[in-house]
Amino acid sequence: PTSAPAHFILNRIRKEVDAGLYSRVVTRFPPEPNGYLHIGHAKSIVLNFSMAAAFGGYTNLRFDDTNPAKEEQRFIDSIKEDVRWLGYEWENECFASDYFEALFGYALHLVDHGLAYVDGQDADTIRAQRGTLTEPGVDSPDRDRPPTENRDLLERMRAGEFPDGRYVLRAKIDMASPNINLRDPVLYRIRRQHHHRTGDDWLLYPTYDFAHGQSDAIEHITHSLCTMEFEDHRPLYDWLLEHLPVPSRPQQIEFAKLNIDFTVLSKRRLTRLVDEGHVAGWDDPRMPTLAGLRRRGFTPVSIRNFCNEIGVTKSEGIIPYGVLERHLRDDLNIHAPRRMAVLRPLKVVLTNFPANETEWFDAANHPQNPEMGSRRVPMTREIFIERDDFMEDAPKKFFRLKPGGEVRLRNAFIVRCDEVVKNDAGDVTELRCSLDPESRTGQPNADRKVKGTIHWVSAQHAISAEVRLYDRLFNVPHPSGDKERDFIEHLNPASLEILDTAWLEPTLADAPPGQPFQFERLGYFVPDLDSTPERPIFNRAVTLRDTWAK
Ligand code: ATP
Ligand code: MG
Ligand code: MG
Repeated sequence: PTSAPAHFILNRIRKEVDAGLYSRVVTRFPPEPNGYLHIGHAKSIVLNFSMAAAFGGYTNLRFDDTNPAKEEQRFIDSIKEDVRWLGYEWENECFASDYFEALFGYALHLVDHGLAYVDGQDADTIRAQRGTLTEPGVDSPDRDRPPTENRDLLERMRAGEFPDGRYVLRAKIDMASPNINLRDPVLYRIRRQHHHRTGDDWLLYPTYDFAHGQSDAIEHITHSLCTMEFEDHRPLYDWLLEHLPVPSRPQQIEFAKLNIDFTVLSKRRLTRLVDEGHVAGWDDPRMPTLAGLRRRGFTPVSIRNFCNEIGVTKSEGIIPYGVLERHLRDDLNIHAPRRMAVLRPLKVVLTNFPANETEWFDAANHPQNPEMGSRRVPMTREIFIERDDFMEDAPKKFFRLKPGGEVRLRNAFIVRCDEVVKNDAGDVTELRCSLDPESRTGQPNADRKVKGTIHWVSAQHAISAEVRLYDRLFNVPHPSGDKERDFIEHLNPASLEILDTAWLEPTLADAPPGQPFQFERLGYFVPDLDSTPERPIFNRAVTLRDTWAK
């Protein structure tokens, strides 16, 4: 949907295409179905789909499901929903597990060519023998096992003759390589785990390194775009493709992960937030997941624009959360109809407005865009205004309502505060105001200047609602960067504020889920998933201005 801005990957692919190396570009988005997608994944989705679209190709959705322990069907379903919601449609839905048989064939090929061996040492020994950056590795005593013996053992591993961990398959590359990834990496492990798709067919599973590049080759992916932590794996990616009879020769290009402040972007940490009950679920509106952002009120275009603005580079930075919010604000400012709602109500009686009467006012749905039309809002003798819009001992610069002061009620007329009613505790419970009838539109005082304009709703017509306001999920910019304390300790206890006595103008009665509105002067709001006609619930997606600017 969005055209790709220039960046090093686009420029590089363009050169390759211009040089005739490719006639079209095929990419894949390869999530592991062990959690919901987050905003970091959106960066990868936008990049992969835009590169293929820019060069006449397509993108596959590939579930990287080679690690059965944490993978589930519900995660597959949510991932598909989220990619589509972002605005992308994949060419093929693929599963790495569909290639298990082919991958095993490749393993036999390596074994037969003396390029892999079955190692009977335990995992700790193997790890220790792989050495360090300054010390070369140590050969396994099994390194020179003859190919026929390796084949026999590998087939018996598959047949289930050995317990978990008894043997692994290792590539035979170079135990002295300066790149530790090339020191005979493990390709297969025996693990008796039920797989969400292949059931109990397999009890040995390929590692990421062995599965990923070969899956790319099987799908004829031209460019395998991944994050920087795989840069050191690229020599292994290339080595395997070089030594295997694969049907195509993809190339891996790395880019920097997206990081955003005041949140965490790792499925492991997000899983903890959900499992330990710190949030209401993967789609809690405070979560940086696509499901959470959607429920919060984010739009697909705002997320795509955000991804395009942050660009694609090789160096990691931390993007302020406010940048994401700015893109939402920019989108909603154009598209969200305006409405009036009062979040913290204070009753106002208009003493010179007849009781039992309703006057209807025209209210523009968007002050800058007449094409969005208008609606009628009812005015009655009793209305609600925002408690914050009245101050008894107001400073000079307070231009909202104060005793004896005047303010314009948005879309209606000017009122003056004549009397402040209090309860025994001294709290203001009601204001008694008089209106200037000639300050209505079309009347002589329509343009009379008063300093402030405030929003309001008719007490008789307003709909009672719950409104949920959200703040940052964490108190510190880098919750997971703290070496001393668990990131959970940095959760912001005030990240959710529930206002259960809000009042909405009646046109909001049948707002469909996901339809954003600007509540004038308060921010952009969207009906929550839990909202019902009996009990409307709105989320504040974002405030009108960046209140977080430091
Ligand atoms: P996590 O650390 O959240 O588990 P992951 O990389 O293990 O992330 P995958 O499901 O394997 O999760 O990710 C699918 C794709 O999305 C990969 O190509 C990965 O590189 C990319 N990706 C994941 N996180 C980010 C991020 N923060 N920024 C950009 N791309 C990301
Ligand atoms: Mg991964
Ligand atoms: Mg992961």
